[in-house]
Parts: sequence; C-alpha cells; structure tokens
Amino acid sequence: MRRLGSTFLDKLLRSAAEGILVLDASHKITVCNPAACHILGLDEGRILGSTPDELEGVYVHEDGSVFPPSQYPAEVALRTGLPCHDVTMGLRRTTGERRIWITVNADILPGRSKSATRVFVVFNDITAHIETKIRLREVLRAREELFQELERSEASMRGLLQVMPSPVWMKDLNGVYLSCNAELERFFNARGKDIIGKTDEELTSREDAALFVVTDRKAIETGDRIQTEHWVTYASDQHRAFMSIVKMPIRDAGGNITGILGIAHDMTEKKQAEDQLNGLMAYKDAILANAPIGLSVFSVDRLCLEANPSFCSIFGYAAAELIGKSSRSLFRDGSGFEELGLKIWSVVLQGGTYTADLPMRRRDTIDIWVRTVIHLIDIKTPDLGVIVIVTDVTAQKTLELDLQRSNAELQKRTEQLQAVARTDALTEIANRRAFIEAAEAEFLRFKRFNSATSVLLIDIDHFKMINDTFGHEIGDHALIALAATLKSLARATDLPARFGGEEFVVLLSGTGSQGALEVAERIRGEIAALSISGGSRHFGITVSIGVASFGSSDDSWSQAIARADVAMYRAKSLGRNQVVVDAKPHDFQ
Ligand code: GH3
Ligand code: MG
Ligand code: MG
Repeated sequence: MRRLGSTFLDKLLRSAAEGILVLDASHKITVCNPAACHILGLDEGRILGSTPDELEGVYVHEDGSVFPPSQYPAEVALRTGLPCHDVTMGLRRTTGERRIWITVNADILPGRSKSATRVFVVFNDITAHIETKIRLREVLRAREELFQELERSEASMRGLLQVMPSPVWMKDLNGVYLSCNAELERFFNARGKDIIGKTDEELTSREDAALFVVTDRKAIETGDRIQTEHWVTYASDQHRAFMSIVKMPIRDAGGNITGILGIAHDMTEKKQAEDQLNGLMAYKDAILANAPIGLSVFSVDRLCLEANPSFCSIFGYAAAELIGKSSRSLFRDGSGFEELGLKIWSVVLQGGTYTADLPMRRRDTIDIWVRTVIHLIDIKTPDLGVIVIVTDVTAQKTLELDLQRSNAELQKRTEQLQAVARTDALTEIANRRAFIEAAEAEFLRFKRFNSATSVLLIDIDHFKMINDTFGHEIGDHALIALAATLKSLARATDLPARFGGEEFVVLLSGTGSQGALEVAERIRGEIAALSISGGSRHFGITVSIGVASFGSSDDSWSQAIARADVAMYRAKSLGRNQVVVDAKPHDFQ
C-alpha cells in the first residue's frame, strides 16, 4: 500500500483522467489515483487496503442484473493471468445516489514470484454515455410500441370502415378517390380497386357527380365540415336514397388541406316518416283551424298546449296568449278548481270521457257556460295530456236556468195555492175540504190497520145572539179566537178544521172515544175561559161538542161525523156548554 509521492510515475497517475488502481496478489488495492477516488466517490483511505468487493456499493450489468465479484475484471485477470478488457459496470451506491457507469480494463503486472503478481486496473467514467444509450433504447422502445399501436388502430379503423353500414371514403383535392369502404362499393356497384383512382364523374350519374363535386369544393374552400341532405341514386339497383352526407377537410401536419373525408348516412326511412308526419300535421292543422267547435290540448299539469281558432274565440283570447296558460284562468274563480281536476282525471284515466257544462269566464270578464268534453289523447300514455272540446252553451244554459227558475216559482205558487185552497181564509186553520181529504185518508188507514180514530164536532152556543149583540165582525173575532184555541191545543196528529159557519171539527187520529172525550172537555174548558173583546166590553163564548169514533161497520168517515152531530145536538138539548159522546155502541172506548 502506498500513497502517491512525487515521482514521475506518481505525477502521471495523479494527473491521469482515468481511474487507476493497482491490486496485489491478495486482491488488496495498493495504489489508487485521485481520478479513481473521484469516479468511485470514495476517499483514498477508504479504497487503499480494501479488496474491490469490500468497496461501498453494488456493481450491476447494463441490464440491471448484479455483477458478481468473481467476475470483476481484476479478479478475472488475477485468476486467469490474462488481461480483461472493456468491461462495463454500473455502480449502484448504497446511499442511493445517481448510478455511475465505468468501463474497466485490467492487466497483469507479472512479478518475480506469483505472490509478487499485481493487477493494473484502469477505468473511465462513461455514465453520460451509458445514460444516453439507455435513454435512446427507451425512446426506441417507446417508438416501437407507438408504431405497433398505430398499426393496430389503423387495422381496426380499416376494419371498422369496412363494416360500417354507411359509405365512407377519402378523396384528394382533385376529387380522386384514395380509399373507400364496402358500403361505398355497393353504392357505386364497383370494387374498391376500380373506385380508387377515379372521380365521381367516372363513377356515377352526371347529376349526382355534380352535386358531390360542389360540396367537395365547398368543404375545401371553407375548410369546414359540410353537411348536406339530398336524394341520390344507387348505381347497383338504381334505387333512390335520401342521404345525409358529411364532408370534412383532411389536413397535413402543417394544417394544409390535402383531401376530403366523406361519410354518408341513409335517411330515407326517416325522411319518409317525416314527410308522412308532415302530411298528418297538415291535416291536423287544417282540421283544427276549420272546426266550428273549440278544440284544445292541455298537459297533465293543466297548461294549454294547443288551441284552435274556435277555442280562442269562445274565450276571447289570441292563441299565443292561451298557449302555456293554466286552465285555471278560464274559470270564474279558483274555488273548486283542484276538486274538478281530480274528478276529471279519475274519469279520463279509466279511459272515460268527462262531459259537463262548466261556468267559465272570457278574457273580457264576460261569464259564459261551456259544454266541455275531455278525454285522454292516449290511454296508454296519460302524460301526453288531454283533448278538451268546448262549445259555448251560454244562450242555451241561460234559457235552461230561466226555465228552472220559473218552474221553481210556479211550483212554489202552486203549493201556495194548494195551501190556500185547504185553508180557511178567516181563521187560517184547515177548511172543510182539507178536513174531508184528511178524514178520507184516515178512514182508509183505520180500515186497514184498525187504528182508533175519533172526531169532535164543535158548535158555538147561541152564536146568532153574539152576532146580533156585537155585530158580525166581532162574531168573526170570536171564530178566530176559537180556531186559535183549537190550534194551540192540537197535538201533531190532530187536525182542527172549520167545518162551516160557526161549526168546527177536530180529527183525532190514534185516539179512542175516551181519549176524545178528554180532549173535548179540555177544548170546551179552554173556550169557556176565553175573554173576547167586543168593542168596549168583553164577553165569553161556550161550545157544545159531539164526540164520535170511526166504527168497524162504517163505510165512510162521514158516518162518524153524523154521529158526532147527533151527540152535539144532544149536548145542545141538555143545556149547551157540554160534551156528549156518541151513544151508539162502538169499538173503542
Ligand atoms: P145554537 O146554540 O142552537 O147553535 O144557536 P145558534 O145561534 O148558534 O144557532 P146556529 O148554530 O144555527 O146559528 C148559526 C149562526 O152563525 C148563523 C149565522 O148568523 C152565524 N154565522 C154563520 N157563519 C158566520 C160567520 O162566518 N160569521 C159570523 N159572524 N157569523 C156566522
Ligand atoms: Mg150552528
Ligand atoms: Mg150555534
């Protein structure tokens, strides 16, 4: 081991740009120059006395695999006794610094004995060179991959174009075909090789070719994508097709247009469907415009989607004002709008038709009646909304309402007249006619259900005298007071009536003769207690009452009245102001 001194050789070693090491027979490094220290990044002290494999770091091959110490050039030279040249080694330091690459030459310096043999190792830092090589290799690999990728995508693109159901092609600036797919072959009825190299003029009708040339030129001149739609003819079977054709300029890397890429799409079916639809729409518009009834379409959320002129004129709106408007604004007020909506939906959702005359309001606030017929446009798709058909029935409805009103009036008047016809004008209790009707009905009931029924016949005592004393008018007051008493004492099932003159009757349903007697006594007592104003004086009246009941052998209600009459006369003859019950034996007590 030896530190460099100042000999010529030492100076040479010190100034050399190559790393230089000398190893003895025991593989220990005995000499190292500054370039070696610099390249290896180690102190002289760390290097001298060590064997190469004791130095810091791991050596690798260019492919990254570990370089075994047995293959270090110095080892190989020592082992074989032969020089070992141009070995490239990469030093991967344990500290993780940048890898350095060296190329190593090892030569044998033979000594006098085997143990005096030494190895002279010279190495250069070729890191920059190797790194460049590695980078170059990576670039080459990336380029290779890119090429492969390009090839793959080009192949799949070619495949895609071939299977595309639309004609696709490329042309140069002169309109010469550069490539085409199977669909274009079909269009021109020619093989690809017979298309490529030719122009439209040579391949199709003059008419179609002229069209294609014009659009090519337009795409080239504007540099933009051009889309056109027109009828063209297939050369194969001369069938006409409505094509949507897109042409796009192709540019080179410098942005210059070098050709045209074209793609056509057969829209015939769509076009025919469109034409058909347009025809239907024209029909629909004509029907809507000319229909004398109001026709409209409303959405599910009740917005007007369409309205014909008749609909607009019924409501006094312009169509533009109605479209998008809620049907709510056509009603007189919002009340009941939601309920009506629910009702209508419940009908139409079942596939039914809602029909009603609705009170509505025009734009000029005039109230109108509208006969409204509503049904779904399509039962399977309720979201499409409803068709609303309207007719202005205001005149008709007004007549109808007037008629209803006068009918009601008439009915009321009739009822009033009927009531008048059954009422006694003076006393305002039932008259003879009303009594007879009730008695007849009651007699039928009696015959059917055998329910006890009685009648009272009431006659004022010495009434002539009252008339004579106080005048006829005061006599009338007495009649009114008597009627009021009868009315006040009557139960719901009793019917008091004026039978004629100063004679009164009371029909007592559900009452036998005993009950009737009690009622009669109560009436007699109440009347006897009346104080009637007769001008400056007051006077009282009394009555004689005959009581009789319907009998099972009777044929008519009037038989009971006749018996009551007899009883009443008996009461008169017994002194008046008393009640006498019919003497004839009868069914109810
Ligand atoms: P009696 O006790 O026997 O019944 O004696 P009377 O005077 O009441 O005799 P009767 O019943 O025969 O007389 C009926 C009288 O009642 C005759 C008539 O002047 C009077 N009269 C009948 N109708 C009315 C009437 O509407 N108003 C008035 N003020 N008197 C009437
Ligand atoms: Mg009388
Ligand atoms: Mg009398």
